[in-house]
Amino acid sequence: MQNWKNLTDTLQKEKNLDDADFRSLLTQTGEADAELFVRADQVRRAVYGDAVYIRGLIEFTNICKNDCYYCGIRRSNRLAVRYRLTKEQVLACCRQGYDLGFRTFVLQGGEDPYFTDAVLCDWVESIKNQHPDCAVTLSAGERSRESYRALYHAGADRYLLRHETATAAHYGQLHPPEMQCENRRRCLYDLKEIGFQVGAGMMVGSPYQTTEHLLADLRFLQQLQPDMIGIGPFIHHKDTPFAHCPDGSVTLTLRLLAILRLLFPYVLLPATTALGTLAENGRERGLQAGANVVMPNLSPPDAREKYMLYQNKLHTGAESAEQLDRLKQAVQTAGYRVVTDVGHVKRRNNNT
Ligand code: SAM
Repeated sequence: MQNWKNLTDTLQKEKNLDDADFRSLLTQTGEADAELFVRADQVRRAVYGDAVYIRGLIEFTNICKNDCYYCGIRRSNRLAVRYRLTKEQVLACCRQGYDLGFRTFVLQGGEDPYFTDAVLCDWVESIKNQHPDCAVTLSAGERSRESYRALYHAGADRYLLRHETATAAHYGQLHPPEMQCENRRRCLYDLKEIGFQVGAGMMVGSPYQTTEHLLADLRFLQQLQPDMIGIGPFIHHKDTPFAHCPDGSVTLTLRLLAILRLLFPYVLLPATTALGTLAENGRERGLQAGANVVMPNLSPPDAREKYMLYQNKLHTGAESAEQLDRLKQAVQTAGYRVVTDVGHVKRRNNNT
């Protein structure tokens, strides 16, 4: 039988394992999880204390030119009711968020051709002018290097672009042929070189995903050394080609969060909405497994219902920015503290 204590000890100290040890950790029957969570919590407390950073999520458009097989806002889903927020609506969301204590705004949307560099740069500049003490995170998909550079110079601080899977063949099972794994990687490296704090990540339990794919994801993340890693379980959406695929595992998502915290002590690691959607107290359990960020929804309420990436996506209660008090209470009960802070990644020293 594996000696889980030694294995987690090595992972904590060396921030790495060989492939065979990663495989056994990823596929174990749950015996090692308690040990993993304790270690991950020690590491997050050593770097970030008990602070939980909050990000105000503004879902600014659900119009998308892409056709990812898993996603509810994919181009071919004719049942999705489409919307695009106006600049005034977004600025109003930021003002409301600022008053509530948010110091990072995350603008996430489909790849909507309306958002040329001129439009998006103008939005970023206006947000930064009105809230100079806040960070702006963009999550607007694949763009050219020039476009990313323009957005960075307009004032955007961070960019989230999950790599989705680091295995080209698996990427091809999740996306139509016009979408390429290679381009996604190019984008991430461009963003990093330009100076963004960069977030990559993947769904856990996406269709056809194997342990080897997850191992490849960990190795890719080790190469990229991102500042943020977004992971959450895959959740089916009834109007997509993956309508009948099983949802991802909460246990494996929590295990991966802990492994990621041990591999990347300084990373900003959200307890995602998808985790909160699949499991009762999923977000709190994510924090206890090493996550240190939550992203309540600041979008106008009618937009929230239309940004349905997957079935039953949470957007009310502690998931909504207006009910921040409920979130604060839940976070406190879990043993942490929501802070009003821009919440940049802590400086890294070779990630040690
Ligand atoms: N267009 C931007 C992009 O491609 O990064 C941002 C929007 S995209 C909808 C945000 C993320 O939602 C994706 O990176 C994907 O991992 C996640 N997502 C989409 N469909 C999902 C599903 N069915 N279950 C879980 N996560 C999903």
